[in-house]
Amino acid sequence: KNIGNSAQNATETPDDIVDAGEPVVIYPDVSDPEILADLPYLKADGSLNKYFFSKFVDHDDNKKARKVFQENNRLYADYIMEPIDEPKVDNLQRPSEDYKLANATLLSLVRNSELDGILSAMEQVEAKFNSKFHYPWTFMNDVSFSKEFKTKVKAATESEVHFITIPKKLWKKPIFIDKDLEQKNIDLMLANGVGYADMESYHNMCRFYSGTFYNIPHLQQFKYYWRVEPDTKYFCDIDYDVFKFMQDNNKSYGFNINLYDGPSSITKLWNTTMEFLEEHPKYLNPNGAFQWLLEDMQNPEKNQIAGYSTCHFWSNFEIADMDFFRGEAYSKWFEHLDNSGGFYYERWGDAPVHAIGLGLFEDKSRIHFFRDIGYHHMPFTNCPNSDRCDCEAGKFVPWFSVEKENCMANWVKYGMSEDEKNMF
Ligand code: GDP
Ligand code: MN
Repeated sequence: KNIGNSAQNATETPDDIVDAGEPVVIYPDVSDPEILADLPYLKADGSLNKYFFSKFVDHDDNKKARKVFQENNRLYADYIMEPIDEPKVDNLQRPSEDYKLANATLLSLVRNSELDGILSAMEQVEAKFNSKFHYPWTFMNDVSFSKEFKTKVKAATESEVHFITIPKKLWKKPIFIDKDLEQKNIDLMLANGVGYADMESYHNMCRFYSGTFYNIPHLQQFKYYWRVEPDTKYFCDIDYDVFKFMQDNNKSYGFNINLYDGPSSITKLWNTTMEFLEEHPKYLNPNGAFQWLLEDMQNPEKNQIAGYSTCHFWSNFEIADMDFFRGEAYSKWFEHLDNSGGFYYERWGDAPVHAIGLGLFEDKSRIHFFRDIGYHHMPFTNCPNSDRCDCEAGKFVPWFSVEKENCMANWVKYGMSEDEKNMF
């Protein structure tokens, strides 16, 4: 009964909701000062213990949070089930003879071993969108692409294809990272169930997509990119130029899924950001998405650990303007984050980093929910209610116990104006 999509579950009353979560995380005993002294990234007030408590014990706060979840889940389901084919603006651009492309590339960081997965994603992006426009593809890798990879990828598109080996400086761990401190923190993160904590290449990848990819020499010629990951699915026909949509409607960032994060991977990200803001308050955008960043109702334990909601745009899909990231506010802030070592002493993801940067430094009206772009990356889905899409409308995740990781409702409430809700 508890398995299904958000739209179906939205008819349940709060009492019907059962959190089927089993304790899967082993927490160190932070009440022991000796253990605590060894854990520089744990908070002295024992907030991880509180997290454990709030997750599995049925106290009042937990009941309140579940009620908020229920309301948010309903709000999300109502909005996501509103039929949509395309954004309702009058400046969508269609393919035509002598069509002039926007300054954009499809962009993918991928390993040679993921050839089949990227071919599958490419095939869908080509069929649904790019065969109508012929935007170039750019593939990036920390080592060189194999001959087979290049041959097969080139055969999957009629567009220009570029293969980039990432300069070491933009990929490798900075030399100032202290090996002992790093190892201590990896152990702590593993104990707290942080995925990929001990995989250096994953940390490199997160740092790369957070703050260095847009400095790759080959990408300097481009303004917009559409990030494509292996094994993702694209469900809907897209007949308008999404890059021109961004340009003509003054958008800098487009997403289609909003999620809370695992707070144990980013306990210092918010504080490190606040340090930066204290020094540089001028970078704050007066129309930033602050309420969205600070929401603390649906999953209050996230705020207890991470200092903010952890809600982020799921960055394995994004259509964005690199000039936002290249701008002074974001790039100076990234430098500050990087110098703190948090990409290695913790496992800061590029998704929370993009999201905080956008939420603080960008005008929220420039951030766009591509509700019409049906998408899946294991295990989450954005599926519009449209006969142009080949998916189950409103489906978000296969397991009900994970639905509360959905923070789309907060974007709808705090990020979007009424006009935007009617248009998109
Ligand atoms: P997840 O979605 O968070 O589980 O992470 P993925 O394994 O999908 O990695 C995110 C993206 O970065 C994918 O497009 C991967 O192909 C790519 N990626 C991750 N690590 C590496 C790496 O070490 N080398 C290369 N070339 N690509 C990587
Ligand atoms: Mn992935």
